[in-house]
Amino acid sequence: MTHWKKLTNPDYLGAYALEEGQELVVTIDYVREETVIGPDGKKEDCTVIHFKDKVKPMILNVTNAKTIAKIYSTPYIEEWVGKKIQLYVAQVKAFGEVVEALRIRPYMPKEDTYICAACGEEITPAGQLTARDIAMNTQKKYGKMLCATHWAELRDKAKTEEKTNENNENQN
Ligand SMILES: [Zn+2]
Repeated sequence: MTHWKKLTNPDYLGAYALEEGQELVVTIDYVREETVIGPDGKKEDCTVIHFKDKVKPMILNVTNAKTIAKIYSTPYIEEWVGKKIQLYVAQVKAFGEVVEALRIRPYMPKEDTYICAACGEEITPAGQLTARDIAMNTQKKYGKMLCATHWAELRDKAKTEEKTNENNENQN
């Protein structure tokens, strides 16, 4: 008897990596054949998909490979580079039990849009940061989502204020 958890390899992305209800949008970096060492120490050649995002690579099974091929209308892994996929946890039957498995939504992920609280414009990526990074950063720091321009403005303002305070302290 094999407990399904025995088949979960912590070196690779799996259903365990997602919180309940969470869906993960990731960008494909490259896909290649790799020798995977399972939790039981057994070696197996698998197709592994690597992402540009800071997440573990994922072992690509037939179901998920077919989904990507369908979404992007190409069976060629070279043409999957740079494409986005949306991962979710599905309940699937395996070993006579219902278990959780990582699956790909059968459509192109919808981009989340974030609106700048200062100018009302959509937040766009800047430098290494995605629109989401910028939105999350400013939300955390300032309690509102800001575009890169207005974030920079606020940062500069904060710096100027710091300097003014320093000057005032020196004068006192
Ligand atoms: Zn703005």
